[in-house]
Amino acid sequence: MDYYPIYLKLTGKPCVVVGGGNVATRKIATLIDAGASVSVVSLSISSEIAGWIETGAITSYRQGEYQASDLSGQLLVIAATPSSIVNQQVFDDAEQVGVLANVVDTPELCRFILPSIVDRSPLMIAISSGGAAPVLARMARQKLETLIPFGWSDLARFAGGLRSQVKSRLKSVDERRRFWEYLFEGPVANLVMAGRSDEAAKSFNTALDAAEEYQNILGGGARLGEVYLVGAGPGDPELLTLKALRLMQQADVVLYDNLVSKDILSLVRRDAERISVAKAKGRHSIAQTEINSEMVRLAGEGKRVCRLKGGDPFIFGRGGEELASLVDAGIPFQVVPGISAANGCAAYAGIPLTHRDFADSVTFVTGHRKNRGYFDLPWKSLSTDRQTLVFYMGLTSAGLIRDKLIGSGMLPSTPVAVVEQGTRIDQRVLVTRLDALPEEIASNAMASPALIIVGGVVTLTESLSWFGTNLITSELAVS
Ligand code: SAH
Repeated sequence: MDYYPIYLKLTGKPCVVVGGGNVATRKIATLIDAGASVSVVSLSISSEIAGWIETGAITSYRQGEYQASDLSGQLLVIAATPSSIVNQQVFDDAEQVGVLANVVDTPELCRFILPSIVDRSPLMIAISSGGAAPVLARMARQKLETLIPFGWSDLARFAGGLRSQVKSRLKSVDERRRFWEYLFEGPVANLVMAGRSDEAAKSFNTALDAAEEYQNILGGGARLGEVYLVGAGPGDPELLTLKALRLMQQADVVLYDNLVSKDILSLVRRDAERISVAKAKGRHSIAQTEINSEMVRLAGEGKRVCRLKGGDPFIFGRGGEELASLVDAGIPFQVVPGISAANGCAAYAGIPLTHRDFADSVTFVTGHRKNRGYFDLPWKSLSTDRQTLVFYMGLTSAGLIRDKLIGSGMLPSTPVAVVEQGTRIDQRVLVTRLDALPEEIASNAMASPALIIVGGVVTLTESLSWFGTNLITSELAVS
């Protein structure tokens, strides 16, 4: 984090602006807006500043050259003079005495920066790229401006006036959060934003009465929770479904496994509890039965539990087993499909899995050996022509996969791709041929998570590859 974001309460606090031109005028305007006690030091001032001095909006004005003593007792200083020497002096002095300084348009002379804002006061969103990409920050702001209704300003004010009432009548934090979510998404919000405040107040009271009664009947925490079994996709957060995102932001607690990327986790509601149930192959840090009972326990406490899984929960994800325990415990659930690694990796590696020049079918196969290395797969039918095989968890069994397929009649020259970290920014795609697969995996240090795709469709990646730059084509594959 390059900058630590804070909102300052400036009401009545002494702030000084050095300079009196157009830029200084704009900065003074925002400080006055924030209720600061503004002093100005400048050789000359704009007519607007003169007006503020007259009305008393500006607390003090000293006409003259800047001096170090102008900073005494100030909380912050903004320097906007045409002289870089003066600006530098202001910054140096401010650093010395611990006053926060901002020299306009000079990031290296800023102890704090002024973000662009989306203002739905009291709801306020600040955006900054820390000077790295101001245009991108502006675009982010434009997006948010269109996304967040102006009516949220009224809504936030409306809610602010009712917080203590809600707090005294709804006992638990969860209960209150559910109530506010309902309020902000439902009819009350629409009435507030339509300016129909009397009806909104009535509707609010009815809703609060109902929530209070419900809480009393069920004794708050005794309410039954629910579980969302959500597929998080292979890694790129933009591959989440809208439903996945909505439920991730609703859940009180999130149980995630190690395939869920950090970027995706950052989209979970901020104050949700996050529990890692990492289950790397061969390292069962938490046994499946423990995950199952943890879900049942949390939902039993009335929580909304999001079970976040990599890819799709029903493709080699043990989603079915987890649901069975919920059914046994009578806990309601929803299942949200995700983009499975096969779909994500194929798309991002430019490998159309069933291109009709090469394949009539695609099979998702587990490469995870059960029973001490014993591989119980129909190798004969997997080795026939005109099909695509996608091996999940196949990296460590690559040698065995090669031997079995070739042993069952598949051509040793069959093209194979290994997609590592598919759809993520560091995705790597190795293209080789079946007989060289384990050696190529080793020499290119391909690591988990990786998917192995076998079949003629793999040859298309060279012309259809579009994502990232890490296409490794083994020389063997060309021969
Ligand atoms: N339910 C998941 C699969 C879980 S099994 C899904 O539908 O995708 C775990 C295996 O999935 C890994 O060993 C790897 O083979 C594959 N996998 C998951 N994410 C991947 C990714 N981003 N890139 C490549 N392979 C991935």
